[in-house]
Amino acid sequence: MSEVCLTHINKTYPNGYEAVKDFNLDIKDEEFVIFVGPSGCGKSTTLRMIAGLEDISDGELTIDGKRMNEAEPKDRNIAMVFQNYALYPHMTVRQNMEYPLKIAKLPKEEINKRVTEASNILGLNMLLDRKPAALSGGQRQRVAMGRAIVRNPKVLLMDEPLSNLDAKLRGQMRVEITRLHKRLKSTIVYVTHDQTEAMTLGDRIVVMSDGEIQQIDTPENLYSHPANKFVAGFIGAPQMNFMDMSIEETENGILLKKEGARLALNTEQSRKLKERGFRQGSHITLGVRPENLSIDQSGSDQKNSLEGTIDVFEMLGASSNIYVSCGDQQIAAILPAGVFCKEGTPVRLQFDLDYVHLFDPDTDRNIMADQA
Ligand code: ADP
Repeated sequence: MSEVCLTHINKTYPNGYEAVKDFNLDIKDEEFVIFVGPSGCGKSTTLRMIAGLEDISDGELTIDGKRMNEAEPKDRNIAMVFQNYALYPHMTVRQNMEYPLKIAKLPKEEINKRVTEASNILGLNMLLDRKPAALSGGQRQRVAMGRAIVRNPKVLLMDEPLSNLDAKLRGQMRVEITRLHKRLKSTIVYVTHDQTEAMTLGDRIVVMSDGEIQQIDTPENLYSHPANKFVAGFIGAPQMNFMDMSIEETENGILLKKEGARLALNTEQSRKLKERGFRQGSHITLGVRPENLSIDQSGSDQKNSLEGTIDVFEMLGASSNIYVSCGDQQIAAILPAGVFCKEGTPVRLQFDLDYVHLFDPDTDRNIMADQA
């Protein structure tokens, strides 16, 4: 059992800076939780408070029901893996992994057993006698993970562990970490600024901005039902397009209008907007993901589409991105493989309206996701 509960946690640094504000989260046993958000939003500070490397200014941290605010880091049964692997350069891989167990004065046989187990899991058997200088970046990071897991920690904390690796290796290590979590069944809290890592690794993701939690949810829900404009823009690449639209009420429901575009919302969307007091002439922020736009080939039906000129065409292989200038805005769209576009040519983008998002321009809250 290793549940971690953070209740009304705040962190104010000695210079008065409020890095974390009213952070509430219950992490379940064996859960893989990700803290994600832009640089400086308070992810590492929160992780370091769990580890005991940073004092908690206010609120309570419990692990398995026991208050931990005042506990020394070594008494929390937590292991941490950092971005810079911090391996001892003069020690071999085996010695690096043995080190924390020797400090804990475990018997020699137990140390051997745990190091063998960890190197089996992480594929380090052939490298045990090498020094860190003779390892690749990915191998070093695996040793750093090995050194953390030999301690059989209740909770494994990882702070941007892959950010020093190149893109290909990061992809491989993501798969390895998922496998590791399945094998170890430990509770993992993982910090990253990379939304792809967050979406692919986490059971649940905590999206943070400016020291505050924006949304805690599964990857699917963050993508499909973002709580606000910040989360909507943060998850997904290229990011969601946002447009200011004005409302026209018709017999058949609500039309959203802007220069060159008239979009007919479905019954549910129209009902929700009306219920929330949006009327003829009010403005809303429309959000549409690039994957929910396509090129309108018909040429005749001007409904539910937007006209513009192709600025940039990016061939990615399995798909392509186009960036289209529509009046004063640039709109990104993802096209399937095999569709080619010429830069500088006019284009009509068709909206998949069942997948658009509607945000309140005053609060940035997602009108469709809000219960209130
Ligand atoms: P993240 O991990 O999301 O990049 P951090 O948790 O490291 O962000 O930092 C959150 C904010 O707290 C940042 O604005 C950072 O500059 C500030 N901060 C971090 N450490 C200190 C410190 N020791 N004193 C004052 N401010 C700090």
